[in-house]
Amino acid sequence: MKIALIAHDKRKRNLLNFVTAYKPIFKEHTLIATGTTGKMINTEIGLEVKRLQSGPLGGDQQIGAKIAEDDLDLVIFFRDPLTAQPHEPDVTALLRLCDVFKIPVATNEASAEIIVRGLENGWLDWRTVKESAVLYDE
Ligand code: PGA
Repeated sequence: MKIALIAHDKRKRNLLNFVTAYKPIFKEHTLIATGTTGKMINTEIGLEVKRLQSGPLGGDQQIGAKIAEDDLDLVIFFRDPLTAQPHEPDVTALLRLCDVFKIPVATNEASAEIIVRGLENGWLDWRTVKESAVLYDE
């Protein structure tokens, strides 16, 4: 599975703790991340991660594009609900595309934990069956 990891600044430590806790699962998958988040995951946790642009510079939009191209299976996005972001429209657009293309998305530890445990148990394997993956309802 290809997993996108993103965290706003005040939530980065939470995401790093989360990824550390589930490192044995994450290391079995392909990880991509926005710039700063990806750098921290790589240097602090030692996981290989493809880094895109930083979020405010277009990283969220790059992840959205991957969703639209059916090149992403899961999004874990620890967004900060208490701080205004300069790239709020990009955040909204990314979450909208998750809904359009039915991509599992978690925005906090509680939902991320359920999704990652589901990933471990094969509950997201339907993503690998192209015929059954409902990409978009006309
Ligand atoms: P960053 O971007 O990982 O480059 O900090 C995250 C975001 O703000 O969307």
